[in-house]
Amino acid sequence: MADVRPPLEAEIRRLIGIAGPMPLADYMRLCLTHPQHGYYVTHDPIGATGDFITAPEISQMFGELIGVWMAAVWQQMGAPENVRVVELGPGRGTLMIDALRAAKTARNFYTAIVLHLVEISPKLRAEQQRRFEGLGEPVLWHPSLTDVPAGPAIIVANEFIDALPVHQAVKQADGWHERVVEIAPDGQFAVGMARDPLPHFETTLPHELRQSPEGSIYEWRSDAIALELGRRARTEGVALVIDYGHVQQGLGQTLQAVAGHSYTDPLHSPGEADLTAHVDFSTLTNRAEIIGGRVHGPLSQRDFLHRLGIDKRAAMLKAQATDDQAAAIDKALARLTETGPKGMGELFKVLAIADPKFGVLPGFEE
Ligand code: SAH
Repeated sequence: MADVRPPLEAEIRRLIGIAGPMPLADYMRLCLTHPQHGYYVTHDPIGATGDFITAPEISQMFGELIGVWMAAVWQQMGAPENVRVVELGPGRGTLMIDALRAAKTARNFYTAIVLHLVEISPKLRAEQQRRFEGLGEPVLWHPSLTDVPAGPAIIVANEFIDALPVHQAVKQADGWHERVVEIAPDGQFAVGMARDPLPHFETTLPHELRQSPEGSIYEWRSDAIALELGRRARTEGVALVIDYGHVQQGLGQTLQAVAGHSYTDPLHSPGEADLTAHVDFSTLTNRAEIIGGRVHGPLSQRDFLHRLGIDKRAAMLKAQATDDQAAAIDKALARLTETGPKGMGELFKVLAIADPKFGVLPGFEE
């Protein structure tokens, strides 16, 4: 049988043929967002029929609690007459739809909202359009956060930053070399390293990682999103970031590919699998603070959801549920908050970046 190669593979081969081995971050960016063949452009990735499932798709409680949280944050912001509610990478729109339904009871907040969705995928944008139509509220779409006008804003990003490209470098005797995708002698894609070391790379590393042994791998993202969130926070903004990742900076690589709810090789079938990597919450904190934002957390998703009252919310829903529905609510609650390998409670972290004048945000009290 003929081997069916995804069209993006030929394109990446062509680019490597012209320009030489490609930094892993460029490879990841092409795989996810190439304008014709990128994963997010051609797939509807989320849910039982997609490649992975996210917290808002597990239970309505997730978005509802965030809706109530946003209403409380808006009060703390001084109840501005107009507030942009911005979601980065809304996926199927479920989080925001659940959040808005819960926020409706906070009437003044609800009427102050102007919705902005930042979405790169035409497929998911069409799905969002379809689902938001019924709400009767104006919604504005943008390809990037930088296109959203300035002003008081509450920004939510669930599993968004993990999809932004990561760079990797490997330590050698003469310094750190960027990891690249190249074509191996057998004709397959392989990970290699750039011939020359990255100039002065060591000085950008945290002190404790500068003397790392040869072969160590260091992974990082562009600072652009952290700086943008910090900049917006400084001018009456609040951003809530929920994602999987680590609180301590360290060595090692975390790039992973998922298709059909299982792990695959990131170099295999470019554009056909979701590529993500851990969020480094320590660097995110550092960059957001450098630019003047106040960082709250990170907390574990478990602690954050408990503080927002997920147990109470589950009990309320169960009071009106059939036995089967009640069992499903318990299962979802466990999945969102448990710490074991199946739970999202510990792996996922919640961090807020806000204007320092707003004080401690709800859910982040010591
Ligand atoms: N927040 C949703 C979806 C997470 S999947 C949920 O929790 O279910 C990642 C989302 O980010 C998708 O909507 C994807 O299309 C979008 N996305 C990924 N990279 C992007 C980029 N560079 N710019 C804008 N949106 C992006």
